[in-house]
Amino acid sequence: PARGERNRGTAPETAAPPKLTNPQRVYWQDVDVTKQGLADYYAQVWDWIAPHVVRRPLALLRCPNGVGSECFVQKHSHATFDKSRILTVDDDGEELIAIDSLDGLLALVQAGVLEIHVWGSTIDRVDLNDRLVFDLDPGPDVTWADVVAGAKEVRDRLADLKLESFVKTSGGKGLHIVVPHAGADWTTAKEFSKQIALAMTADSPQKYLAKMTKSARVGKIFVDYLRNGRGATAVAAYSPRARPGAPVSTPVAWSEVTAKLSPARWTVLNLMDRLKRLKADPWAEIGKVKQTLPGL
Ligand code: ATP
Ligand code: MN
Ligand code: MN
Repeated sequence: PARGERNRGTAPETAAPPKLTNPQRVYWQDVDVTKQGLADYYAQVWDWIAPHVVRRPLALLRCPNGVGSECFVQKHSHATFDKSRILTVDDDGEELIAIDSLDGLLALVQAGVLEIHVWGSTIDRVDLNDRLVFDLDPGPDVTWADVVAGAKEVRDRLADLKLESFVKTSGGKGLHIVVPHAGADWTTAKEFSKQIALAMTADSPQKYLAKMTKSARVGKIFVDYLRNGRGATAVAAYSPRARPGAPVSTPVAWSEVTAKLSPARWTVLNLMDRLKRLKADPWAEIGKVKQTLPGL
């Protein structure tokens, strides 16, 4: 930067917003969302997304030329990332990626990141899961009403164990149920969530499935508990998806989980309208709930 620029104000040099090259590059062609549009979305949504992405290991879906062109998942630090804003976290010799600021998020936009996926742990304790995710994946011929019922069944089974849960749209086909908790080792976290999935398939084998096999999924919902293993990820709350329409994985209140909700209803273009209209953050309590998994 020019000398004058560097000396403007009292903030350190790195406080300048990350530079966005090719801001007019179109990322979502069908709805005309550009790289600049994505950066603007994140700047507006920052207070909402921050609690769910800051200081958690990330997996990033990079699509440098937008939706429809080649995309790849990046889980490790890379030369193309701006190291002054993106954190590198050592995990037994592996360099994980994290951010702790809006500038970090904008540096991801600069690197062509369209989706942000998070571990269920923080970078301070990568050995502990502190957020479980139940990812409901409807197979062909499953109605939305069935997905809604499945999500509520997960909620009720957790509530029976005195665990409060939160729900968001995936921005794709399903719903994600999120359980904040004090922390458990990965084996315990995965085993616990597996038992919930297995109980659902045992009670309603015609409705649910706990195995990944796509061919067996017709007419059933895969209760994907595999998001709760070490290194597994789920799309972050408020992350856009690299799919037509620029849908956003959107936290909702349980009262909104009805036949009227659609999983891709909220998008980069209309999410702020929703947030401005909301009387209360449906996930206001997610960082405050004090609960531990049974037996811990
Ligand atoms: P949908 O509602 O359409 O299922 P989703 O985000 O839940 O959307 P899934 O395919 O169920 O999509 O995957 C759940 C999560 O698992 C993803 O958000 C992602 O974080 C992770 N995941 C799945 N497949 C991969 C993969 N091949 N590489 C990296 N992460 C993956
Ligand atoms: Mn899913
Ligand atoms: Mn899944």
